[in-house]
Amino acid sequence: MGLSLTSDVQYIKGVGPAIGQLLNKLGLYTLKDCLIFFPREYDDRRKLPCVKEVECGDMVTIVLTIESMSDKKIKKGLHVIEAVTFDSSDWMKAVWFNQAYLLKVLKPGLKLLVKGKVETNLFTYMPQINVSETEILRSVDDIKKSTGVIIPIYNLTAGLYQAQIREIIKQAFMTGKTLIQDNLSNHIKREHNLMELLPAITEIHYPTSVENYKKARYRIVFDEFFFYQLRLEKQRIQHKQIAKTTPLVITQSLINHYYQALPYSLTNAQNKVIHEILEDLRKPVAMNRLIQGDVGSGKTDVAIVTLLAAIEAGKNGVLMAPTEILATQHYLKIKGLLEPFNVQCTLLKGKMKKREKEESLAVIESSEACIIIGTHSLIEQYVALSNCGVMIIDEQHRFGVMQRIKLQDKANNPHCLFMTATPIPRSYMLTCFGDLDKSIIDELPPGRVRPVTSLVTDEFLPQIYQKCVERLRLKEQVYIVFPLVEESEKVDLKSAVDGFESIDIIFKEYQVGLIHGRMKPDEKNEIMKEFKDNKIQILVSTTVIEVGVDVPNATIMVIQDADRFGLSQLHQLRGRIGRGGKQSYCFLISKSNSDQAKKRFKAITDTADGFKIAEYDLKIRGPGDVLGTRQAGLPQFQLADLLRDEQVLLLARKVAKQVLKEDPELSSDGYRSLKTQLESFADTMIGQHLN
Ligand code: ADP
Ligand code: MG
Repeated sequence: MGLSLTSDVQYIKGVGPAIGQLLNKLGLYTLKDCLIFFPREYDDRRKLPCVKEVECGDMVTIVLTIESMSDKKIKKGLHVIEAVTFDSSDWMKAVWFNQAYLLKVLKPGLKLLVKGKVETNLFTYMPQINVSETEILRSVDDIKKSTGVIIPIYNLTAGLYQAQIREIIKQAFMTGKTLIQDNLSNHIKREHNLMELLPAITEIHYPTSVENYKKARYRIVFDEFFFYQLRLEKQRIQHKQIAKTTPLVITQSLINHYYQALPYSLTNAQNKVIHEILEDLRKPVAMNRLIQGDVGSGKTDVAIVTLLAAIEAGKNGVLMAPTEILATQHYLKIKGLLEPFNVQCTLLKGKMKKREKEESLAVIESSEACIIIGTHSLIEQYVALSNCGVMIIDEQHRFGVMQRIKLQDKANNPHCLFMTATPIPRSYMLTCFGDLDKSIIDELPPGRVRPVTSLVTDEFLPQIYQKCVERLRLKEQVYIVFPLVEESEKVDLKSAVDGFESIDIIFKEYQVGLIHGRMKPDEKNEIMKEFKDNKIQILVSTTVIEVGVDVPNATIMVIQDADRFGLSQLHQLRGRIGRGGKQSYCFLISKSNSDQAKKRFKAITDTADGFKIAEYDLKIRGPGDVLGTRQAGLPQFQLADLLRDEQVLLLARKVAKQVLKEDPELSSDGYRSLKTQLESFADTMIGQHLN
């Protein structure tokens, strides 16, 4: 006896080292882990059907008694057990495929609880059940335990059976339940009508009714969000205290020069955001701000002004971008614009000639303030960024939280700015970035004409190409995007490489370029440059151009096999056109224009609002896919669902803020337990760490 919440799972009654290892595979290491290993689903056995009630095709759980049985081996590899069974209403045939191990235990007279699919057996005229799960009911006690209740079903791993894990969790629960401490302050529970923790956990494992289950789930979801938000909010406050930094002395002389050099004036939204940033930079606390702005809203200029502010203050300005194409593009643009101002600007990326890299590092290490632009290679050990005053991460959703933290750690409390175009719905925002200040560029530069987006089948390609020719004659340019680099054996998709060849033939009079992820960086840069200079009119590409690429003269985008892309991705791609003042066109080519396809694409063809599209995308595909696997920073909640439970999240956040406002140290009687919770048990309960 004497287990504690942190005791190893192997000491739970009936577990031992071997099964303990299997539990580890499920992420269960301690008794505590088991307590909050919540069921994946439930088997509602409160009212089981009788044989008379089942219908062909149903998946049912039913209690049967064996009358007689036979064991047939039909073919090598297929073993069949058949039994004639009955209940009080009728006869039923039960069949087990490839479960020979049951032969030893199944005997006439035995009462079973089986789960399986019902089929009609034409030969016996008896309904037949193809059994997938079998439980033997040896005693009245067994019957009581297994029927008339809602049974939890847990995730499994090879070598572990459902009945086994159910028993283990039950043991864990019996042993651990007295150890559970409810650390949520009583008055919060009272005020928001929240269930106590132990009954809630009990109800999640062993629901007594749908209504009680919902209440219990609400309590757990609240906890998950609340303690997560409490931590984020605490971090935010701490950051403000700790991240003391020297305020930047910004004269705005360089910045004003830059404004004058720009061929346009900034939008109100850009100005507003720049103002917020400059205010931050002048404070003795490091800025920690996320800029959200749809594709084409002009985030780059905001970034450049921020970098210039660092230079004015005699510090380095660092800008990190997720792809080499984008980093190079930023570098060329910034270098070009700043040339007249005598500002040193350098590029650092993964694949560089040794000499170039050395030169770049020399600039970075020199005492003169410079602008450093690079890919994630900036995170590498040997790049010293200690004189960095401002750090900007472009397309931040492409980086993991850890990468962001690593880069930040390279400098001494730099002012940080994160930029993203992938609009993250509010709930995700609050969870991932609850610790950041936010600015939104909610306005596009004037004269932008929304691209006309249409969904077409590939029969219309000739017409589309005709449209391309029309625009090409007006000296405009075209993107044609393909989903894969090379013909894949499994999926019949036109690859960019093949596509390039035929497009090159079709558009004889124009220069066609090809760009894809497997090309050397130098080749990529060369192609991008030629496209930018309109030496190439048609750019055939894969998604390497998805983020950031800026060629305002391009007005047509043809996306092949559009079904292969996520909606947010399509929105990003489409953001490459419509950047100048001319009408632009986006053609989504799909094999089918069925209602289903139309429905899926409706969001993207109907709206230009990236927020709506992202929200829709999240509903269809879930956060992992939309935000990319890189977004490993998303916390893993046990029960909470960021979309479904948004209201609870908002409430939890409000309460967390309120609490910290009243008692920032969580040291008062009413809140001390919250601190305990943050430091102990709830740690797993509120989702994992930030990596
Ligand atoms: P994103 O927010 O997607 O990074 P960019 O910064 O690449 O957008 O800007 C998109 C395009 O709009 C660029 O060609 C840029 O020069 C142009 N642009 C930015 N701000 C303005 C403005 N205020 N007026 C006109 N054009 C602008
Ligand atoms: Mg950009």
